[in-house]
Amino acid sequence: MLFGRAKKNPIKIADKGIIEWKYAVCGYCSTGCSIEVGLNAEGRPVSSRGVADADVNRGKLCLKGIFEHELFTSAGRGLKPLMRTHWHQDWQPARWDTALDTVHDEIRRIQSQYGPDSFAIISTGQMLTEEFYTLGKLTRGLIGTNNYDGNTTLCMSSAVSGYKRSFGSDGPPGCYEDFEHTDCLIAWGSNLPEQHPIIYWRMKEAQEQRGFTLIVVDPRVTMLAQNAHIHLAITPGTDVVLMNAMMHVIFKENLHDQRYIDANTHGIEALRAEVEKYDPVTASKICGIDEDTIRVVARTFAKSKAAMQIWTMGINQSTHGSDGVVGINNLALITGNIGKPGGTSLSITGQCNAMGTREWSSCSGLPNYRYLENEQHRAEMAQFWNVDPAFFPKKRGMFQTDIYQAMEAGQIKGLWLIATNPMSSLPNTARIRKAMEKLEFCCVQDCYQDTESAQYAHVYLPAGTWAEKDGVMTNTERRINRITPITPPPGEAKPDLWIFNRMAERFNKEGKVTFPEKAGDIFLEMGRLSKGRLADISGMDHALIEKNRGIQWPYTADQASLDKSRGEAPPKGGTRLYTVDGTFSYADGRAKLIPLPFIDNNEVPDEKFPVWLNTGRLIEHWHGRTKTGKVANNNKFSPIPFIEINPALAEELGIQRGGYVRMVSRRGDAVAMAQPTQRVPKNMVFLPFHFHDCANRLTLGLLDPHSRQPAYKQSAIRIEKIDDQMAAAKLSMEMRKF
Ligand code: SF4
Repeated sequence: MLFGRAKKNPIKIADKGIIEWKYAVCGYCSTGCSIEVGLNAEGRPVSSRGVADADVNRGKLCLKGIFEHELFTSAGRGLKPLMRTHWHQDWQPARWDTALDTVHDEIRRIQSQYGPDSFAIISTGQMLTEEFYTLGKLTRGLIGTNNYDGNTTLCMSSAVSGYKRSFGSDGPPGCYEDFEHTDCLIAWGSNLPEQHPIIYWRMKEAQEQRGFTLIVVDPRVTMLAQNAHIHLAITPGTDVVLMNAMMHVIFKENLHDQRYIDANTHGIEALRAEVEKYDPVTASKICGIDEDTIRVVARTFAKSKAAMQIWTMGINQSTHGSDGVVGINNLALITGNIGKPGGTSLSITGQCNAMGTREWSSCSGLPNYRYLENEQHRAEMAQFWNVDPAFFPKKRGMFQTDIYQAMEAGQIKGLWLIATNPMSSLPNTARIRKAMEKLEFCCVQDCYQDTESAQYAHVYLPAGTWAEKDGVMTNTERRINRITPITPPPGEAKPDLWIFNRMAERFNKEGKVTFPEKAGDIFLEMGRLSKGRLADISGMDHALIEKNRGIQWPYTADQASLDKSRGEAPPKGGTRLYTVDGTFSYADGRAKLIPLPFIDNNEVPDEKFPVWLNTGRLIEHWHGRTKTGKVANNNKFSPIPFIEINPALAEELGIQRGGYVRMVSRRGDAVAMAQPTQRVPKNMVFLPFHFHDCANRLTLGLLDPHSRQPAYKQSAIRIEKIDDQMAAAKLSMEMRKF
C-alpha cells in the first residue's frame, strides 16, 4: 500500500487537442535545445516538448523551455506602433510608415546636427542571426554610426575578448561531447544546474559513466559546487591569482606539455617569468585557497589525459573578466588541452543567440569575425555590400557600457534600443536613468511594450518574438539551429527582419544595397561571405539545418558535397576547432601565452559596507524577467527578490527567515526577503539579478579594461534590519511591476 492508500489514482495528462508540432530551438539560454510547439485545431500553440533525436537535448527541456509556448499570449505584448513627442506624455497609436519615417528622420537630424556617431544603436543576443546580419548591413553600410553594440557586452564580451587575445579569433573551440571524453573538468564561476540545466544533464550523465574529477571554483556553494569533488570557495575577483598559482605549480613540477607549447604557442618565457611570482603560499593569501589545495588542483588538472574548463559569468562579469578568460586559455595551452576530445576551454554562452551576434552582427567589426581595423576586410565587405569602403570607420566604436556614459556626458543624443532593456540590466540604475532622460530621441523596438526602458522612448516599434519569426541561432558549441515561424506576431507587430528591411528602404533610396526579404536567402548570402573563413557555413542551408537538428560550424560546401556523396547523415560539422597543430587564427597559426599581472581594483568590503554582494541567475527566470515574469509557471516559483544570507550573519543582525532586509551600497538601496543558508559565507549575500529596481540599484559595475564588461559580481554593501515589515513587503511587491 502506498502511503496508506489502497488505490493510487492514475496520472492523467490533459488532452490539449494538438494536431501539429512545429520545430524551433529554445529562445532562452545558449544551450540550444531543440523544441517542438504543439498547435491545436485553431492553430493556437498549447504545448512544448523536447525533440528526441536532437543531439543537444535528446528530448529534454528545462522549466523555461517546457512553458515557452505560453510566451505567444503573454501580457504586455506590443500590438501597434506608438509615438509621443516627450517621453513623459501618454502614448498615441501610429501607422507603421509614420513611425518608421520618424525614426529615420530623427537619426538623420541628430547625425547632421551633432555628427554621425551621436546616434547610438544597441541590440541584443535575442534576435535571429539573419536579423543581426541585416541590422549590421543597415548600420555599417547605410546609417553610418560607429556607436553600435549589443547587450552581449553585459555577458559575453570578456569571453570574446579573451578568445581573441589568446587564439586570434572569437569562437569557442570545444563542444558538449567533450564531457564524454574528459578526465578532469574545472568549472570557473559557472552554476550549470541552474543556469544551463540541459548542459548540466549532459555533463552529469557523462560523469556518471566515466567518473571524471569535477572541480568547481565559486565563492558560493552553488548546486554544482555541492556535486563537486573539490570546491574552491575563492575570494571574489581573484581568479587570475589562482590561475597563475596553478601555472606556477605546473611549471615547477614539470607537468606542462612542452611539445604542444613549442608547436602551437608564443610567449612561454614571459608567462613563466610572471607566474614565477605566484607561489602557492603568496597566492593563497590573496585568493583564499590554501596552498596544498592549489597544488592538488594544479596536479590533478595537468596530469589528466584530457582536461577541460568551462566558465560563465563568475569569470566574465569582473574587472578581470578578459584576463580570467586568457588565464583559462593559458592553462589549457600549456597542458595541450585545446582541440582534442575532452580537452578544451569552453565558454558557456549566455543568451540564446549571443553567438549569432558575435559572428554576424557587425557590432564589434564586420561580419564573420572580420575587423574594421583591417583594410582588406573593409574592402571585401564594401565590395560585397556595394558601399564605399571609406564609409566604414577604421576602428570599432564604443561598447554598450561606454555609450551610456557618453549619453550622460551629452555626446550621444539619440538611441535605438532593440530587444534590450538597459533600465533593468545595466549596473547603477540611477545613473542609467539620468542618461536616458537626457536623450533627444529614443526608439524602443521590442516584443513587449511595457519594458522599463520604454518609459523613455519617443517611438515604440512592436516586434515579433522567438518563433513568430524565421531564421537561425548559434548555441554555445557553435551549433546553428533553425527556428520556423510557429505563429504570426500578434496585432500589427512585425518580425524584426521586416522592421530592418523597411528601415533600410528609407536609408537606401537609390537601391544601391540589396536587402533580401527571406531569412533563407539571407542565410545563403551569409554562407557566401563565410567561405574559407573560421566560421564557414557555406555547406548549410535552412532545410539541412532543420533536418539535422542543428549543424556545428565550420561546415563547408566541400564537406557538404562529400557527405552527400557518401550518403552520410547527419553531417558532423566542426565538432572542435584548432584540432591540428598551428591552426590558430593569428597569421602564423600560433596562439599567444599572455602574462597576467594581478591588479586589485575591485570595490571590496570595508567597515561601512562590510558584505560582498554576489549576483546571479535563478533557474526559473531569464535575465530581466521581461519574458519569464509573464509566464505563470516560471513566475510563481520565484515571484519576489530574495537574498541568500549566512545564518550567523542573519542572527547577528536580528534577521528572521522570510523577513525583509534593506541592502545599502554607495549607489543606492534595495529591499529583499532574507533566506538564511550556508550556501554563502558570513561576509557575502547572493541576490538574483532578475528583478527590476533591485540588484542594479546597488551594483557598481566597474568595467573590464579589455572587454568593457561590468563587474556585476563584486560590490560592497551593508545589510540593515527593517522594522516596518509591511511597508517592505509592499515595496517588494512593487518590484514585480515590470
Ligand atoms: Fe531552453 Fe536553456 Fe532550458 Fe534548454 S536549458 S530548455 S535552451 S532555457
